[in-house]
Amino acid sequence: MKHATPATLQACRALDAQDPLRELRALFTLPEGVIYLDGNSLGALPVATAARVAQVISDEWGRGLIRSWNSAGWFGLPQRLGDKIARLVGANAGEIAVTDSTSINLYKVLGAALRDAGKTDALRKVVVSERSNFPTDLYIAQSLCEEHGVSLRLAEPDGIEAALDDEVAVLLLTHVNYRTGAMHDMAALTAAAHRQGALAIWDLAHSAGAVPVDLHAADADFAIGCGYKYLNGGPGAPAFVWVHPRHAGRFEQPLAGWWSHAAPFEFAPGYRPAAGISRFLCGTQPILSLAALECGLDTVLAVEPLGGMAALRRKSLALTDLFIRLVEERCGGLGLALATPREHRRRGSQVCFARVEPQDPSGASGAYAIVQALIARGVIGDYRAGDPSAGLGQDGSQDILRFGLTPLYIGFEDVWRAVEHLREVIESGEWRRPEFNRKHAVT
Ligand SMILES: *Cc1c(COP(=O)(O)O)cnc(C)c1O
Repeated sequence: MKHATPATLQACRALDAQDPLRELRALFTLPEGVIYLDGNSLGALPVATAARVAQVISDEWGRGLIRSWNSAGWFGLPQRLGDKIARLVGANAGEIAVTDSTSINLYKVLGAALRDAGKTDALRKVVVSERSNFPTDLYIAQSLCEEHGVSLRLAEPDGIEAALDDEVAVLLLTHVNYRTGAMHDMAALTAAAHRQGALAIWDLAHSAGAVPVDLHAADADFAIGCGYKYLNGGPGAPAFVWVHPRHAGRFEQPLAGWWSHAAPFEFAPGYRPAAGISRFLCGTQPILSLAALECGLDTVLAVEPLGGMAALRRKSLALTDLFIRLVEERCGGLGLALATPREHRRRGSQVCFARVEPQDPSGASGAYAIVQALIARGVIGDYRAGDPSAGLGQDGSQDILRFGLTPLYIGFEDVWRAVEHLREVIESGEWRRPEFNRKHAVT
């Protein structure tokens, strides 16, 4: 590709100086000397979080005690934080609840959809998803399909529409793929599902706070998403769940705990589901974690006066474009092949490279060791193992180096420096050192 200006360190610094979002980095506590390219796995720590959580502990819990369920608004936190997330994903106030984990919320919405399908159209016996979907989504789907006597049909990313027919009850997809950063056309695939009479569930784990999402414009039926990735809520932060208001009151989810009851404090022995999204809660919420998540949400909402998600997206694409360009210009011949789509409309906020030429006598790709050597230099990305059962050339067959570019706290000079470290680690053979080749429990 021809570029008008050379990509130099000076040019990257000039881009940082002109960046309308540059002030947002000050909202985060990042260690000195670290370039953090893993905000797609665990978002960085907001400056506000520690003091806010300490205040909830000492004031709201310590002094307020049980009174804080009312006086500090603890009871309404799932809905109040849901309203903040709604602003990021094209939903309205009152439509999202923040609760539980992404896996559990998927269990609830897919369970609700399959219960309904079993009652209204017993001939619909298939759930369609993508073979390279995040494993927890597939595991939950497998478990529910077994429970409901339904089969799970897995398609390749470009074969999803063809996998839809009038036997399909639900299309379950993740909007941005966790390995490759490839993004689906949510509106087009939802319309394709609806044409066949199926419901569409979207997992926004790698989308919320990363790319513009418009659930109403796409006419989706259900969505779930993650609080600890681009929403900076902290490790294990609560996740969220959205149901289109046209379905409110129709679906009953399988984890019908007392927080999903119309009147939990009547302590009635019989179950009556709450109206609206509250019906997708289950039990008592983790208030300390919700307080931390709110600080994370506020860092993303800080883009609103600076151009909103459109400005965030512009910077994200500029960062990922620059990363791709620099790797191709400066790391040519080093065995890295782009695994993320070049087309903007198909790319999320991360860049991945497959390690295509095994250079190790053992046949190992070196992708894991390269990432470990980068981490030792303070450049934190991650590694995802390839699945040898995937067809060659299909998503998922190769070991991947994965770099998340979070525009709130990553700048253009960071990208320059990260790619220079990557080049040095591979060129020098540093990655072959034994300490970089020992596997940890969490990759
Ligand atoms: C990160 C992620 C999850 C995480 O699920 P948890 O229940 O929080 O462990 C689920 N689905 C997708 C697509 C993800 O990217």
